[in-house]
Amino acid sequence: MKSDDIRALVRPNIQKLCPYSTARDEYKGTIGVFLDANESPFPTGWNRYPDPRQTTLREKLAPIKGVKPENIFFGNGSDEAIDLIFRIFCVPGKDNVVAIAPSYGMYAVSASINDVEVREVVLNEDFSLPYDRLLAACDADTKAIFLCSPNNPSGNAFSNEEIFKVLENFNGIVIVDEAYIDFCSVPSLLGSLDRYPNLVVFQTFSKARGLAGLRLGLAFSNPYVISVMMMVKYPYNINASTQKFALAALENGIDAQVAEIVAQRARVAAALPQYSFVRKVYPSEANFILVKVDDANRLYDHLIADGIIVRNRNRVVGCAGCLRITIGLPEENDKLLKSLNDYEKGNIRG
Ligand code: PMP
Repeated sequence: MKSDDIRALVRPNIQKLCPYSTARDEYKGTIGVFLDANESPFPTGWNRYPDPRQTTLREKLAPIKGVKPENIFFGNGSDEAIDLIFRIFCVPGKDNVVAIAPSYGMYAVSASINDVEVREVVLNEDFSLPYDRLLAACDADTKAIFLCSPNNPSGNAFSNEEIFKVLENFNGIVIVDEAYIDFCSVPSLLGSLDRYPNLVVFQTFSKARGLAGLRLGLAFSNPYVISVMMMVKYPYNINASTQKFALAALENGIDAQVAEIVAQRARVAAALPQYSFVRKVYPSEANFILVKVDDANRLYDHLIADGIIVRNRNRVVGCAGCLRITIGLPEENDKLLKSLNDYEKGNIRG
């Protein structure tokens, strides 16, 4: 797809949009007296509006991610970026998107809120990408395909080559949600942004970065798509404390913590098959493991009664009998395995 064709995918009302210009957008120089935004002049630490364009943060993150600042959008969690895709590209009641299933639930929720049809394409039984069915589900009104790699809740990653095929053969936006990419052996698609103008990559500070409470999600795309996202978002979508703490966090690496999670994931994955009630441990490239058991509801209740909460995915398409277990600290994983030992021995709570 050519970059000029992306413009045609944008909803006509958005193409014509005259965005809100904040007081701080209008002047870029150095100013000492701020009488432009009707803020309180009394210093509380937070009396000034935050930078609406998150310029410092974008400039700091760009070299870390190997992209340019104009390739980066910050959202109030990835959920804001998901919602913007619908608001920018999909005419309510007319356009549709295609998404894999099972996958992250917010794609479908956001679609419903925006009155956009989601055509869910169930993954193959081993959770691999059903390329032919994915493209067959698209029609002239399909504006976007949502992929997630590593996928939540299955934990597997799709190869870059498989995703390139989708990017090359679909005339719309392809979103690849890389929330769990730091735990994954398949490289990120960020290096392919220049090659594919229809690619939008989501990442987040909520997982490997350990800042879920700050609410900071990321979208990476070509400068045109990013400029439209910046135009449609709420003017001050990233608050001042989030910008400040995220900037400070970027001084620290995450390699040691990621290595610890990956090692713990291997440990839990190796321990699970020894239990007679475990039917299948799905290979994971993320910070969680999907496991199929004899009676997911019973085991879930037992773990809850033991003070451990996991995610019951029993009722999710393709995940009957499955629990999704997040990898915790070593001592938390110890408690999980101890509780599973008790369950195995018939000391069932709940
Ligand atoms: N994408 C995926 C695939 C997720 O699993 C999650 C959270 N579980 C998110 C996005 C949410 O990210 P954020 O905290 O940035 O909204």
